[in-house]
Amino acid sequence: MSEFVYNPASSVAGEFINDAEVCATIEYALQNKGNTGLVDEILSKPSIMKDGLTHREAAVLLVQEDQSVWERIYALAKEIKRKYYGNRIVMFAPLYLSNYCVNSCVYCPYHRQNKSIPRKKLTQEEIAREVIALQDMGHKRLAIEAGEHPELNPIEYILESIDTIYSIKHKNGAIRRVNVNIAATTVENYRRLHEAGIGTYILFQETYNKRRYEMLHPHGPKSDYAYHTEAMDRAQEGGIDDVGMGVLFGLSDYKYDFTALVMHAEHLVARFGVGPHTISLPRICDADDIDSKSFENGIPDWLFERITALLRITVPYTGMIISTRERPSMRRRLLELGVSQISGGSKTSVGGYADEAETGRLTEDEEHSAQFDVNDNRTLDEVVRWLLELGYIPSFCTACYKSGRTGDRFMSLLKAGQIANCCGPNAIMTLKEYLIDYASPETRKAAVPVIQRELGLIPNPVTKEKCETMLERIEHGERDFRF
Ligand code: SF4
Ligand code: SF4
Repeated sequence: MSEFVYNPASSVAGEFINDAEVCATIEYALQNKGNTGLVDEILSKPSIMKDGLTHREAAVLLVQEDQSVWERIYALAKEIKRKYYGNRIVMFAPLYLSNYCVNSCVYCPYHRQNKSIPRKKLTQEEIAREVIALQDMGHKRLAIEAGEHPELNPIEYILESIDTIYSIKHKNGAIRRVNVNIAATTVENYRRLHEAGIGTYILFQETYNKRRYEMLHPHGPKSDYAYHTEAMDRAQEGGIDDVGMGVLFGLSDYKYDFTALVMHAEHLVARFGVGPHTISLPRICDADDIDSKSFENGIPDWLFERITALLRITVPYTGMIISTRERPSMRRRLLELGVSQISGGSKTSVGGYADEAETGRLTEDEEHSAQFDVNDNRTLDEVVRWLLELGYIPSFCTACYKSGRTGDRFMSLLKAGQIANCCGPNAIMTLKEYLIDYASPETRKAAVPVIQRELGLIPNPVTKEKCETMLERIEHGERDFRF
Protein backbone atom coordinates (compact mmCIF):
# COMPACT_ATOMS: atom_id res chain seq x y z
CA MET A 1 0.00 0.00 0.00
CA SER A 2 1.20 3.51 -0.87
CA GLU A 3 2.62 5.64 1.96
CA PHE A 4 0.78 8.66 0.51
CA VAL A 5 -2.75 9.76 1.41
CA TYR A 6 -4.58 12.18 -0.86
CA ASN A 7 -4.45 15.70 0.52
CA PRO A 8 -4.82 18.63 -1.90
CA ALA A 9 -3.41 21.08 0.67
CA SER A 10 -0.28 19.05 1.40
CA SER A 11 3.17 20.24 0.31
CA VAL A 12 4.19 16.69 -0.61
CA ALA A 13 3.93 15.77 -4.30
CA GLY A 14 2.72 12.21 -3.62
CA GLU A 15 -0.14 13.61 -1.53
CA PHE A 16 -1.49 16.39 -3.75
CA ILE A 17 -0.87 14.42 -6.96
CA ASN A 18 -1.89 11.20 -5.30
CA ASP A 19 -1.58 8.27 -7.68
CA ALA A 20 -4.38 6.31 -5.96
CA GLU A 21 -6.73 9.30 -6.28
CA VAL A 22 -5.88 9.81 -9.97
CA CYS A 23 -6.50 6.12 -10.70
CA ALA A 24 -9.70 6.04 -8.63
CA THR A 25 -10.93 9.15 -10.46
CA ILE A 26 -10.35 7.58 -13.87
CA GLU A 27 -12.07 4.39 -12.75
CA TYR A 28 -15.04 6.39 -11.42
CA ALA A 29 -15.19 8.32 -14.70
CA LEU A 30 -15.15 5.16 -16.81
CA GLN A 31 -17.88 3.64 -14.67
CA ASN A 32 -19.96 6.70 -15.49
CA LYS A 33 -19.38 6.71 -19.23
CA GLY A 34 -22.82 7.19 -20.75
CA ASN A 35 -24.39 8.25 -17.42
CA THR A 36 -26.48 11.05 -18.92
CA GLY A 37 -28.00 12.01 -15.58
CA LEU A 38 -24.61 12.65 -14.00
CA VAL A 39 -23.29 14.44 -17.09
CA ASP A 40 -26.31 16.71 -17.09
CA GLU A 41 -25.94 17.38 -13.37
CA ILE A 42 -22.27 18.38 -13.85
CA LEU A 43 -22.92 20.60 -16.86
CA SER A 44 -25.86 22.29 -15.12
CA LYS A 45 -23.97 23.20 -11.94
CA PRO A 46 -25.00 26.78 -11.10
CA SER A 47 -21.40 27.69 -10.14
CA ILE A 48 -19.76 26.28 -13.25
CA MET A 49 -19.23 29.64 -14.96
CA LYS A 50 -17.37 30.99 -11.95
CA ASP A 51 -15.74 28.06 -10.18
CA GLY A 52 -15.43 25.50 -12.96
CA LEU A 53 -15.29 21.80 -12.16
CA THR A 54 -13.57 19.47 -9.73
CA HIS A 55 -11.11 16.92 -11.08
CA ARG A 56 -13.69 14.15 -10.59
CA GLU A 57 -16.37 16.05 -12.49
CA ALA A 58 -13.96 16.97 -15.28
CA ALA A 59 -12.77 13.36 -15.59
CA VAL A 60 -16.36 12.14 -15.96
CA LEU A 61 -16.85 14.52 -18.88
CA LEU A 62 -13.50 13.64 -20.42
CA VAL A 63 -14.48 10.01 -21.05
CA GLN A 64 -17.88 10.72 -22.59
CA GLU A 65 -18.28 9.69 -26.19
CA ASP A 66 -21.67 11.12 -27.07
CA GLN A 67 -21.05 13.99 -29.51
CA SER A 68 -24.05 15.94 -28.15
CA VAL A 69 -22.29 16.12 -24.76
CA TRP A 70 -19.26 17.59 -26.49
CA GLU A 71 -21.38 20.14 -28.33
CA ARG A 72 -22.66 21.30 -24.92
CA ILE A 73 -19.09 21.49 -23.60
CA TYR A 74 -17.93 23.46 -26.67
CA ALA A 75 -20.81 25.92 -26.30
CA LEU A 76 -20.04 26.43 -22.62
CA ALA A 77 -16.31 26.83 -23.34
CA LYS A 78 -17.07 29.54 -25.89
CA GLU A 79 -19.42 31.29 -23.45
CA ILE A 80 -16.83 31.25 -20.65
CA LYS A 81 -14.16 32.52 -22.98
CA ARG A 82 -16.39 35.35 -24.17
CA LYS A 83 -17.37 36.30 -20.62
CA TYR A 84 -13.90 36.40 -19.08
CA TYR A 85 -11.61 37.17 -21.97
CA GLY A 86 -13.78 38.97 -24.56
CA ASN A 87 -12.32 39.04 -28.05
CA ARG A 88 -8.73 39.75 -27.04
CA ILE A 89 -5.89 37.37 -27.77
CA VAL A 90 -2.64 38.14 -25.99
CA MET A 91 0.52 37.86 -28.09
CA PHE A 92 3.97 36.74 -26.97
CA ALA A 93 7.20 35.27 -28.32
CA PRO A 94 9.63 32.73 -26.87
CA LEU A 95 13.30 33.65 -26.59
CA TYR A 96 15.70 30.72 -26.20
CA LEU A 97 18.81 31.77 -24.29
CA SER A 98 20.76 28.51 -24.18
CA ASN A 99 20.27 24.90 -25.21
CA TYR A 100 23.00 23.46 -23.01
CA CYS A 101 21.30 20.96 -20.74
CA VAL A 102 22.37 18.27 -18.27
CA ASN A 103 19.03 16.46 -18.40
CA SER A 104 18.07 13.53 -20.55
CA CYS A 105 14.39 14.11 -21.39
CA VAL A 106 13.77 11.61 -24.18
CA TYR A 107 11.24 13.83 -25.99
CA CYS A 108 13.48 16.92 -26.24
CA PRO A 109 16.36 17.39 -28.71
CA TYR A 110 18.32 19.36 -26.09
CA HIS A 111 18.85 16.20 -24.02
CA ARG A 112 22.48 15.78 -23.07
CA GLN A 113 23.15 12.66 -25.15
CA ASN A 114 22.25 14.45 -28.40
CA LYS A 115 25.63 15.12 -30.00
CA SER A 116 24.27 16.16 -33.40
CA ILE A 117 22.50 19.35 -32.33
CA PRO A 118 24.52 22.60 -32.40
CA ARG A 119 24.81 23.96 -28.84
CA LYS A 120 24.70 27.65 -28.13
CA LYS A 121 24.37 30.09 -25.28
CA LEU A 122 23.60 33.72 -26.08
CA THR A 123 25.94 36.38 -24.71
CA GLN A 124 24.39 39.56 -23.28
CA GLU A 125 25.30 41.35 -26.52
CA GLU A 126 23.53 38.66 -28.53
CA ILE A 127 20.50 38.87 -26.24
CA ALA A 128 20.38 42.63 -26.84
CA ARG A 129 20.44 41.98 -30.60
CA GLU A 130 17.60 39.45 -30.32
CA VAL A 131 15.55 41.81 -28.17
CA ILE A 132 15.94 44.65 -30.66
CA ALA A 133 14.77 42.31 -33.42
CA LEU A 134 11.79 41.22 -31.30
CA GLN A 135 10.92 44.82 -30.46
CA ASP A 136 11.12 45.71 -34.14
CA MET A 137 8.57 42.98 -34.84
CA GLY A 138 6.27 44.59 -32.24
CA HIS A 139 6.56 42.19 -29.31
CA LYS A 140 6.13 43.46 -25.76
CA ARG A 141 5.95 40.14 -23.89
CA LEU A 142 8.58 37.41 -23.95
CA ALA A 143 8.90 33.95 -22.48
CA ILE A 144 12.57 33.16 -21.94
CA GLU A 145 13.66 29.54 -22.11
CA ALA A 146 16.92 27.82 -21.16
CA GLY A 147 18.12 24.28 -20.64
CA GLU A 148 19.20 23.24 -17.16
CA HIS A 149 22.95 23.54 -16.72
CA PRO A 150 24.30 24.61 -13.33
CA GLU A 151 27.67 25.76 -14.71
CA LEU A 152 26.66 27.28 -18.07
CA ASN A 153 23.16 28.55 -17.28
CA PRO A 154 23.32 29.45 -13.56
CA ILE A 155 20.66 31.66 -12.02
CA GLU A 156 23.06 34.64 -12.28
CA TYR A 157 23.06 34.25 -16.07
CA ILE A 158 19.25 34.17 -16.17
CA LEU A 159 19.01 37.25 -13.91
CA GLU A 160 21.56 39.17 -15.96
CA SER A 161 19.66 38.25 -19.13
CA ILE A 162 16.37 39.51 -17.65
CA ASP A 163 18.06 42.80 -16.77
CA THR A 164 19.42 43.09 -20.30
CA ILE A 165 16.00 42.41 -21.82
CA TYR A 166 14.24 45.02 -19.68
CA SER A 167 16.99 47.59 -20.31
CA ILE A 168 16.72 47.65 -24.12
CA LYS A 169 14.60 50.51 -25.44
CA HIS A 170 14.85 50.63 -29.21
CA LYS A 171 12.80 53.29 -31.04
CA ASN A 172 9.32 52.97 -29.46
CA GLY A 173 9.97 49.37 -28.43
CA ALA A 174 10.14 47.88 -24.96
CA ILE A 175 9.72 44.43 -23.50
CA ARG A 176 7.27 45.06 -20.70
CA ARG A 177 6.88 41.55 -19.34
CA VAL A 178 9.41 38.71 -19.18
CA ASN A 179 7.95 35.34 -18.32
CA VAL A 180 10.50 32.70 -17.37
CA ASN A 181 10.56 29.02 -18.25
CA ILE A 182 13.59 27.49 -16.54
CA ALA A 183 14.16 24.30 -14.58
CA ALA A 184 12.75 23.71 -11.13
CA THR A 185 14.91 25.51 -8.59
CA THR A 186 15.19 26.60 -4.97
CA VAL A 187 12.98 29.03 -3.02
CA GLU A 188 15.94 31.40 -2.85
CA ASN A 189 16.36 31.39 -6.63
CA TYR A 190 12.63 31.94 -7.12
CA ARG A 191 12.88 34.89 -4.76
CA ARG A 192 15.67 36.33 -6.91
CA LEU A 193 13.59 35.86 -10.05
CA HIS A 194 10.67 37.59 -8.35
CA GLU A 195 12.90 40.50 -7.36
CA ALA A 196 14.13 40.74 -10.96
CA GLY A 197 10.54 41.58 -11.94
CA ILE A 198 9.49 38.50 -13.87
CA GLY A 199 5.89 38.02 -14.94
CA THR A 200 4.86 34.37 -14.83
CA TYR A 201 7.13 31.51 -13.84
CA ILE A 202 6.36 28.68 -16.24
CA LEU A 203 7.26 25.04 -15.70
CA PHE A 204 5.75 22.11 -17.54
CA GLN A 205 5.23 18.95 -15.59
CA GLU A 206 5.57 16.95 -18.85
CA THR A 207 3.70 14.03 -17.26
CA TYR A 208 2.28 13.54 -13.78
CA ASN A 209 2.54 9.77 -13.95
CA LYS A 210 5.57 9.11 -11.70
CA ARG A 211 6.55 5.79 -13.23
CA ARG A 212 6.34 7.19 -16.74
CA TYR A 213 8.06 10.41 -15.65
CA GLU A 214 11.03 8.45 -14.35
CA MET A 215 11.30 6.48 -17.60
CA LEU A 216 11.25 9.68 -19.66
CA HIS A 217 13.82 11.44 -17.43
CA PRO A 218 16.45 8.79 -16.73
CA HIS A 219 19.32 11.13 -15.70
CA GLY A 220 19.96 14.62 -14.37
CA PRO A 221 18.30 16.77 -11.72
CA LYS A 222 14.97 16.71 -13.55
CA SER A 223 14.69 12.97 -12.86
CA ASP A 224 13.59 13.82 -9.29
CA TYR A 225 9.80 13.67 -9.70
CA ALA A 226 8.92 15.14 -6.30
CA TYR A 227 11.36 18.07 -6.61
CA HIS A 228 9.94 18.90 -10.04
CA THR A 229 6.29 18.50 -9.01
CA GLU A 230 6.74 20.65 -5.90
CA ALA A 231 8.43 23.49 -7.86
CA MET A 232 5.30 25.65 -8.06
CA ASP A 233 5.04 25.53 -4.27
CA ARG A 234 8.61 26.76 -3.92
CA ALA A 235 7.94 29.48 -6.52
CA GLN A 236 4.98 30.67 -4.45
CA GLU A 237 7.11 30.56 -1.30
CA GLY A 238 9.68 32.69 -3.12
CA GLY A 239 7.01 35.32 -3.82
CA ILE A 240 6.04 34.42 -7.40
CA ASP A 241 2.27 34.34 -7.35
CA ASP A 242 1.70 33.96 -11.11
CA VAL A 243 2.72 30.47 -12.16
CA GLY A 244 2.11 28.72 -15.49
CA MET A 245 1.62 24.99 -15.78
CA GLY A 246 1.26 22.43 -18.55
CA VAL A 247 1.78 18.82 -19.52
CA LEU A 248 3.23 17.60 -22.78
CA PHE A 249 0.27 15.67 -24.10
CA GLY A 250 1.32 12.47 -25.80
CA LEU A 251 3.93 11.40 -23.25
CA SER A 252 1.52 9.41 -21.14
CA ASP A 253 -2.15 8.45 -20.88
CA TYR A 254 -4.03 11.70 -21.45
CA LYS A 255 -6.71 10.82 -18.88
CA TYR A 256 -4.06 10.51 -16.18
CA ASP A 257 -2.33 13.76 -17.12
CA PHE A 258 -5.54 15.72 -17.56
CA THR A 259 -6.89 14.61 -14.17
CA ALA A 260 -3.60 15.27 -12.38
CA LEU A 261 -3.22 18.69 -14.04
CA VAL A 262 -6.59 19.71 -12.61
CA MET A 263 -5.57 18.28 -9.22
CA HIS A 264 -2.40 20.38 -9.37
CA ALA A 265 -4.49 23.50 -9.98
CA GLU A 266 -6.76 22.51 -7.05
CA HIS A 267 -3.68 22.03 -4.90
CA LEU A 268 -2.42 25.57 -5.59
CA VAL A 269 -5.84 26.95 -4.67
CA ALA A 270 -5.98 24.81 -1.49
CA ARG A 271 -2.47 25.74 -0.36
CA PHE A 272 -1.99 29.30 -1.63
CA GLY A 273 -5.50 30.52 -2.42
CA VAL A 274 -4.65 31.08 -6.09
CA GLY A 275 -4.68 28.72 -9.04
CA PRO A 276 -2.35 28.74 -12.04
CA HIS A 277 -2.18 32.02 -13.97
CA THR A 278 -1.85 30.10 -17.24
CA ILE A 279 -1.98 26.56 -18.56
CA SER A 280 -0.08 25.79 -21.75
CA LEU A 281 -1.27 23.13 -24.14
CA PRO A 282 1.66 21.55 -25.93
CA ARG A 283 1.53 18.12 -27.51
CA ILE A 284 4.51 16.07 -28.61
CA CYS A 285 5.86 16.95 -32.04
CA ASP A 286 8.89 16.25 -34.26
CA ALA A 287 12.34 17.79 -33.75
CA ASP A 288 15.99 16.92 -34.40
CA ASP A 289 16.50 13.40 -32.99
CA ILE A 290 12.82 13.14 -31.96
CA ASP A 291 10.13 11.27 -33.89
CA SER A 292 6.73 12.07 -32.40
CA LYS A 293 5.29 8.89 -33.93
CA SER A 294 7.43 6.79 -31.58
CA PHE A 295 5.27 8.03 -28.67
CA GLU A 296 2.30 5.70 -28.52
CA ASN A 297 0.14 8.12 -26.48
CA GLY A 298 -0.08 10.74 -29.27
CA ILE A 299 -3.18 12.94 -29.24
CA PRO A 300 -5.25 13.31 -32.43
CA ASP A 301 -6.80 16.67 -33.30
CA TRP A 302 -10.33 15.76 -32.24
CA LEU A 303 -9.15 14.73 -28.78
CA PHE A 304 -6.97 17.81 -28.44
CA GLU A 305 -10.03 19.95 -29.15
CA ARG A 306 -11.96 18.13 -26.43
CA ILE A 307 -9.15 18.53 -23.91
CA THR A 308 -8.89 22.27 -24.67
CA ALA A 309 -12.62 22.94 -24.33
CA LEU A 310 -12.89 20.84 -21.19
CA LEU A 311 -9.97 22.65 -19.56
CA ARG A 312 -11.62 25.95 -20.45
CA ILE A 313 -14.74 25.05 -18.46
CA THR A 314 -12.82 23.31 -15.66
CA VAL A 315 -10.54 26.26 -14.79
CA PRO A 316 -12.37 29.35 -16.14
CA TYR A 317 -10.01 31.68 -14.27
CA THR A 318 -6.85 30.47 -16.03
CA GLY A 319 -5.37 31.84 -19.26
CA MET A 320 -4.70 29.16 -21.86
CA ILE A 321 -1.72 29.22 -24.21
CA ILE A 322 -0.99 27.56 -27.53
CA SER A 323 2.35 27.72 -29.30
CA THR A 324 3.49 27.53 -32.92
CA ARG A 325 3.76 23.74 -32.53
CA GLU A 326 0.20 23.80 -33.89
CA ARG A 327 -0.64 24.59 -37.50
CA PRO A 328 -2.86 27.63 -38.25
CA SER A 329 -6.10 25.68 -38.78
CA MET A 330 -5.71 23.96 -35.42
CA ARG A 331 -4.81 27.21 -33.71
CA ARG A 332 -7.96 28.75 -35.12
CA ARG A 333 -10.11 25.95 -33.71
CA LEU A 334 -8.42 26.05 -30.29
CA LEU A 335 -8.84 29.84 -30.10
CA GLU A 336 -12.58 29.32 -30.48
CA LEU A 337 -12.62 26.71 -27.73
CA GLY A 338 -10.76 28.60 -25.05
CA VAL A 339 -7.19 29.58 -25.86
CA SER A 340 -6.51 33.20 -24.85
CA GLN A 341 -2.80 33.64 -25.58
CA ILE A 342 -0.67 32.66 -28.58
CA SER A 343 2.86 33.11 -29.81
CA GLY A 344 3.55 34.66 -33.19
CA GLY A 345 6.57 34.89 -35.49
CA SER A 346 8.37 32.48 -33.13
CA LYS A 347 11.84 31.02 -33.37
CA THR A 348 12.41 27.89 -31.33
CA SER A 349 16.18 27.81 -31.71
CA VAL A 350 18.79 29.71 -29.69
CA GLY A 351 19.06 33.00 -31.52
CA GLY A 352 17.47 33.49 -34.90
CA TYR A 353 15.34 36.61 -34.59
CA ALA A 354 18.20 39.00 -35.31
CA ASP A 355 19.78 36.92 -38.07
CA GLU A 356 16.47 36.51 -39.85
CA ALA A 357 15.68 40.21 -39.53
CA GLU A 358 19.07 41.16 -40.98
CA THR A 359 19.57 38.50 -43.67
CA GLY A 360 16.08 37.09 -44.27
CA ARG A 361 17.09 33.62 -43.11
CA LEU A 362 18.45 31.61 -40.19
CA THR A 363 22.05 30.40 -39.96
CA GLU A 364 22.60 26.68 -40.51
CA ASP A 365 23.12 26.13 -36.76
CA GLU A 366 19.90 27.98 -35.94
CA GLU A 367 18.00 25.90 -38.46
CA HIS A 368 19.21 22.69 -36.84
CA SER A 369 18.80 23.61 -33.22
CA ALA A 370 15.06 24.13 -32.82
CA GLN A 371 13.50 22.61 -29.70
CA PHE A 372 10.51 21.61 -31.80
CA ASP A 373 9.39 22.01 -35.39
CA VAL A 374 7.29 25.13 -35.93
CA ASN A 375 4.04 24.45 -37.77
CA ASP A 376 3.00 28.07 -38.03
CA ASN A 377 5.76 29.94 -39.85
CA ARG A 378 3.88 33.18 -40.45
CA THR A 379 5.32 36.54 -39.42
CA LEU A 380 3.86 38.35 -36.44
CA ASP A 381 2.21 40.84 -38.81
CA GLU A 382 0.53 37.98 -40.70
CA VAL A 383 -0.69 36.39 -37.46
CA VAL A 384 -2.03 39.73 -36.22
CA ARG A 385 -3.89 40.30 -39.50
CA TRP A 386 -5.25 36.76 -39.44
CA LEU A 387 -6.59 37.31 -35.91
CA LEU A 388 -8.21 40.61 -36.95
CA GLU A 389 -9.85 38.94 -39.92
CA LEU A 390 -11.20 36.23 -37.62
CA GLY A 391 -12.79 38.97 -35.48
CA TYR A 392 -10.32 38.87 -32.56
CA ILE A 393 -8.41 41.81 -31.20
CA PRO A 394 -4.71 40.97 -30.89
CA SER A 395 -3.39 42.44 -27.65
CA PHE A 396 0.14 43.37 -26.58
CA CYS A 397 -1.09 44.24 -23.12
CA THR A 398 1.06 43.66 -20.04
CA ALA A 399 -0.92 45.96 -17.74
CA CYS A 400 -1.77 43.59 -14.88
CA TYR A 401 1.81 42.86 -14.02
CA LYS A 402 2.69 46.57 -14.13
CA SER A 403 -0.37 47.50 -12.06
CA GLY A 404 0.27 44.87 -9.40
CA ARG A 405 -2.74 42.79 -10.44
CA THR A 406 -1.13 39.41 -9.81
CA GLY A 407 -1.90 36.25 -7.86
CA ASP A 408 -5.10 36.21 -5.80
CA ARG A 409 -5.82 39.87 -6.63
CA PHE A 410 -5.89 39.04 -10.32
CA MET A 411 -7.97 35.89 -9.76
CA SER A 412 -10.63 37.65 -7.73
CA LEU A 413 -10.97 40.42 -10.34
CA LEU A 414 -11.22 37.82 -13.09
CA LYS A 415 -13.80 35.72 -11.23
CA ALA A 416 -15.86 38.86 -10.65
CA GLY A 417 -15.81 39.41 -14.42
CA GLN A 418 -14.02 42.75 -13.88
CA ILE A 419 -10.74 42.06 -15.61
CA ALA A 420 -12.45 42.21 -19.00
CA ASN A 421 -13.09 45.93 -18.29
CA CYS A 422 -9.31 46.38 -18.40
CA CYS A 423 -8.47 43.82 -21.11
CA GLY A 424 -10.70 45.42 -23.77
CA PRO A 425 -9.39 49.00 -23.65
CA ASN A 426 -5.81 47.80 -23.07
CA ALA A 427 -6.05 45.56 -26.13
CA ILE A 428 -7.26 48.51 -28.24
CA MET A 429 -4.47 50.79 -27.05
CA THR A 430 -1.63 48.29 -27.40
CA LEU A 431 -2.91 47.24 -30.81
CA LYS A 432 -2.93 50.90 -31.81
CA GLU A 433 0.71 51.20 -30.77
CA TYR A 434 1.52 48.12 -32.82
CA LEU A 435 -0.32 49.43 -35.87
CA ILE A 436 1.48 52.76 -35.84
CA ASP A 437 4.95 51.41 -35.10
CA TYR A 438 5.17 48.04 -36.85
CA ALA A 439 2.17 46.91 -38.91
CA SER A 440 1.88 46.59 -42.68
CA PRO A 441 -0.71 48.77 -44.49
CA GLU A 442 -2.98 45.68 -44.97
CA THR A 443 -2.94 44.95 -41.25
CA ARG A 444 -3.68 48.59 -40.41
CA LYS A 445 -6.65 48.46 -42.73
CA ALA A 446 -7.95 45.21 -41.25
CA ALA A 447 -7.78 46.72 -37.75
CA VAL A 448 -10.01 49.76 -38.41
CA PRO A 449 -13.42 48.02 -38.08
CA VAL A 450 -12.22 45.83 -35.20
CA ILE A 451 -11.09 48.83 -33.15
CA GLN A 452 -14.37 50.63 -33.85
CA ARG A 453 -16.34 47.57 -32.76
CA GLU A 454 -14.25 47.06 -29.62
CA LEU A 455 -14.61 50.72 -28.62
CA GLY A 456 -18.35 50.26 -28.88
CA LEU A 457 -18.16 47.26 -26.55
CA ILE A 458 -16.60 49.20 -23.65
CA PRO A 459 -19.52 49.31 -21.20
CA ASN A 460 -18.40 52.22 -19.02
CA PRO A 461 -18.73 55.58 -20.87
CA VAL A 462 -15.98 57.19 -18.75
CA THR A 463 -13.55 54.37 -19.61
CA LYS A 464 -14.51 54.64 -23.26
CA GLU A 465 -13.86 58.36 -23.32
CA LYS A 466 -10.49 57.92 -21.57
CA CYS A 467 -9.55 55.22 -24.03
CA GLU A 468 -10.39 57.47 -26.99
CA THR A 469 -8.29 60.26 -25.50
CA MET A 470 -5.36 57.89 -25.04
CA LEU A 471 -5.71 56.65 -28.62
CA GLU A 472 -5.29 60.24 -29.78
CA ARG A 473 -2.22 60.65 -27.58
CA ILE A 474 -0.77 57.42 -29.03
CA GLU A 475 -1.31 58.92 -32.48
CA HIS A 476 0.78 61.86 -31.30
CA GLY A 477 3.67 59.66 -30.21
CA GLU A 478 2.99 58.84 -26.55
CA ARG A 479 3.19 55.18 -25.45
CA ASP A 480 2.46 52.74 -22.62
CA PHE A 481 -0.98 53.75 -21.37
CA ARG A 482 -2.97 51.25 -19.39
CA PHE A 483 -6.08 50.62 -17.31
FE1 SF4 B 1 16.71 20.03 -21.02
FE2 SF4 B 1 14.25 21.07 -20.80
FE3 SF4 B 1 14.94 19.74 -22.99
FE4 SF4 B 1 14.64 18.42 -20.73
S1 SF4 B 1 12.99 19.55 -21.83
S2 SF4 B 1 16.33 18.18 -22.17
S3 SF4 B 1 15.33 19.92 -19.24
S4 SF4 B 1 15.82 21.67 -22.28
FE1 SF4 C 1 -3.79 40.33 -19.51
FE2 SF4 C 1 -4.35 42.01 -17.54
FE3 SF4 C 1 -3.83 42.96 -19.95
FE4 SF4 C 1 -6.10 41.67 -19.50
S1 SF4 C 1 -5.51 43.66 -18.60
S2 SF4 C 1 -4.75 41.35 -21.25
S3 SF4 C 1 -5.47 40.12 -18.03
S4 SF4 C 1 -2.40 41.86 -18.65
